[in-house]
Amino acid sequence: MTITSPLLEELQVDLFIDGQWTPSSSQKRFHVENPATFETIAHVADGTVEDAQRAIEAAGRAQTAWGKTSPRFRADILRKAYEIILARADELAAIMTAEMGKPLTEAKGEIAYGAEFFRWFSEEAARIDGDSTTSVDGSNRIVVTKEPVGPAVLVTPWNFPLAMGTRKIGTAIAAGCTMVFKPAELTPLTSLALAGILQEAGLPAGVLNVVTTSSASSVVSVWMNSGIARKISFTGSTEVGKILLRQAAENVMRSSMELGGNAPFIVLADADLDRAVEGAIAAKMRNMGEACTAANRLYVHRDIAEEFSRRFAERMEALRVGDGALPGTQVGPLIDQDGLDKVQHLVDDAVAKGAKVLTGGFRPEGPGYFYKPTVLVDVPAEAEISRTEIFGPVAPISVFDSEDEVLRMANDTEWGLVGYVFTQDLDKAARFSAELEVGMVGVNTGIVSNPAAPFGGVKQSGLGREGGRVGIDEFLEYKYAAIPVPKG
Ligand code: ADP
Repeated sequence: MTITSPLLEELQVDLFIDGQWTPSSSQKRFHVENPATFETIAHVADGTVEDAQRAIEAAGRAQTAWGKTSPRFRADILRKAYEIILARADELAAIMTAEMGKPLTEAKGEIAYGAEFFRWFSEEAARIDGDSTTSVDGSNRIVVTKEPVGPAVLVTPWNFPLAMGTRKIGTAIAAGCTMVFKPAELTPLTSLALAGILQEAGLPAGVLNVVTTSSASSVVSVWMNSGIARKISFTGSTEVGKILLRQAAENVMRSSMELGGNAPFIVLADADLDRAVEGAIAAKMRNMGEACTAANRLYVHRDIAEEFSRRFAERMEALRVGDGALPGTQVGPLIDQDGLDKVQHLVDDAVAKGAKVLTGGFRPEGPGYFYKPTVLVDVPAEAEISRTEIFGPVAPISVFDSEDEVLRMANDTEWGLVGYVFTQDLDKAARFSAELEVGMVGVNTGIVSNPAAPFGGVKQSGLGREGGRVGIDEFLEYKYAAIPVPKG
C-alpha cells in the first residue's frame, strides 16, 4: 500500500447498514486497484442480495421519523459533515487519487466542490417552501406543502467519487429522505469515508445505508423491486439508466437520471483564442477527459482552425502525465483497461478514416492505464469518435464555415448535456445559448459544474436536475390541502 493516509488505515471497508458497519453476508470481498500502479489498495465487502434487502428495510424503517425531523436538524448535520470533509481534505484526496487516478490537485478540487453540495443543501434544507392560493370558485384555500418523496436509491459512477455522492446524499438529507446507496465498484473507498463522516456528523441510524458490491445489477434490482424505495437517482451510462428507468416504470418510482454526454465545443471566428484554448484544456482535460461534461467534439471556424489547433496541441503535449499522487502530475491514468482500449480504438478508427494526429495517439510505457493527451484534426463525420462519448484525453477537431452548419452538427446527436461556445459577440452567444439542444451552456468558459446551478441534460442525457434551487424538488412531493374558506 503506497497511500500514507491515516484515514485510509482507519477506513471502514464493510457495509454500512442501519448505522452499523457489517461484513457481507457471504463474507466475500472484492479488491480495489490503483489505476496508476496496479496495486491492490483495499478489500471491500462484496454486498449480496440479502445485504441489499437488509439495507432497504432499514431505510424504510427510518423514513417516518427522519421525514419528521426539523429542517434545522438536517441542515446542521450537513453543515457539520461539510466542515469535517474540508478538515480532512488532504486525506480524502489521497484516497480518491489512489482509487481513481486523478491528480491530487484535481482530487482536492473535487473535495472542495463535493463538500460544497453539503453546504449548499444545508442552506436549502431550511428553505423548503410551499404555496397558498384560493380555489377558482372561492370556496377553498389551497395550501401546498412539500414532503419527502420517501426512501431513495442512489447509484453513482467512479469518475467523481465524492461529488457524485454528495450531490445526491446532500439533497436527500435536506429533503428528509432516507437512502440506500451503491457507489461504483471501481471507487468505493471515498464513499465509505463519506459514510463515516456523516455518521460522525450525527446522521441517525438507517438514514444512509451503503452497500458496496461487485454485482451492481442484483443489489440495485432488489432495491428497485422492494416496494419500499420511492425514488431512484442515478448517474452513469445511458445504457444502465434505461435499465433502471424500466425497473422504475414497473414500480412507478420518481426518477432522476444524469446520463451520458457528447458535448460540442464551438469556437467562432471572432473568439478570443487565448480564452478558447484555455477553455478547451479545461473542458477536455478535467478528470483526464473522464467526465460527462467533457468536450467531446471540437468545432472550430475555418479562419482560425489552424492557429487554434496548433496552440491547443502545444498545450496538450506539454501536460505532464503520471501517477496522480506525484507532485506536478497534470494527467493521471484512465480508470481501467476497458477505458484505455476504448480510447485507443476510437483514435485508430478515426485515423483509418482519414484523421491526422497532431499530438499523442499512443499509450506510454510502464504500468498504469495511461494515455497521452491527443489531438486529432480533419476528423470525418463518419468516424466513431464523432458519435461516441470518448471518456479519455482525446480531442477531435473538425472545421466549420457557417453558424447554421455548426449548430446542425452540434445538435445532431441523441445526447444533450452541455455545450460550449466561444465568441466575443453577445448576439452570437445568445443565439448559441438558445439553439444548442442541451441542458447547460458554457459561454467563454470550459467549466459549468457548480452547486448553485441546476445540473442536468435534455434528450438521452437525462431527466431532472441536481443542485441549484430546483435540485431539492427531485426528492420532494407536493401535497395540497383544500381548506374551506369560512362563509360569512
Ligand atoms: P460507467 O460507464 O460510468 O461505469 P455505468 O452506467 O456502467 O457507467 O455505471 C454507473 C453505476 O451504475 C455504477 O455504480 C455501476 O456499478 C452501476 N451499474 C452498472 N450496471 C448496473 C445495473 N444493471 N443495475 C444497476 N446499477 C448498475
